[in-house]
Amino acid sequence: MIASLKEAVNFGGVVAFTGAGVSAESGIPTYRGTGGFWTKYDPDKYASIDYFEQDPSYYWRFFRDTRLDLLRHPKPNPAHLALAELETRGKLQAVITQNIDGLHQEAGSRKVIELHGSSRKFHCLECCRSYLLEEIEAELEKHLPPLCADCNGILRPDIVFFGEMLPPGAIEEAMDLASRASLLLVIGSSLVVYPAAQIPMAAKSCGARLAIINDEPTPADGLSDWVLMGKAGEILPQLL
Ligand code: NAD
Repeated sequence: MIASLKEAVNFGGVVAFTGAGVSAESGIPTYRGTGGFWTKYDPDKYASIDYFEQDPSYYWRFFRDTRLDLLRHPKPNPAHLALAELETRGKLQAVITQNIDGLHQEAGSRKVIELHGSSRKFHCLECCRSYLLEEIEAELEKHLPPLCADCNGILRPDIVFFGEMLPPGAIEEAMDLASRASLLLVIGSSLVVYPAAQIPMAAKSCGARLAIINDEPTPADGLSDWVLMGKAGEILPQLL
């Protein structure tokens, strides 16, 4: 199974579509499944735009206590590194990711489409000034929610909360890449979060072959040409 997938990858025209599972081996918990964030925290409170607007300190406490440490010392794993290497070798056109951790870029991937934004970037809700993670760490110790150094406005992360639209440019580019791919590698995603989860179906209906690499079954397994069950960090390096 891996040998025929490796052959298809070598042919080129490959696009990767990744989810939280690709970062699990970097120590970042997924949202769903065993140990996932949503088994401990209610997504309706911590990930919804309505709740953020009502009480932003709720989100910021969650961010400070659960995400900050993980983002401070980014550690791409062999799955991220293998995808970056495939791009360097001219086999992989792009990574479309649902992740907000920046680990693909950290591993050296250059063409990365972030469908759900980035939890390393922030902006002020009043004056729109942008901030990077390093710039708000000290502020997070002092204020929850953190405030803008220029105008005292509340800061928000540049992520897509539940209840918000995906960035139109990102979803269009992702759909375009998926529709022109010969092979879509779908890695570490439960494929239950829409509209992102439409991307594999769109690729398939435009003629791409699908390979699912995940440690549990997904709703798209029946449509797929390859289903490789296991850890992304062990399977992807074998494609090099
Ligand atoms: P998900 O949590 O719904 O699914 C992750 C999938 O990966 C699960 O099916 C799980 O069994 C599988 N998995 C876990 N470890 C794996 C491994 N080592 N190798 C292969 N598969 C593994 O995540 P999703 O599908 O990305 O969708 C949910 C949303 O979660 C997205 O919107 C994303 O923004 C967000 N999210 C991002 C991060 C991050 O940036 N690292 C972390 C958690 C959630």
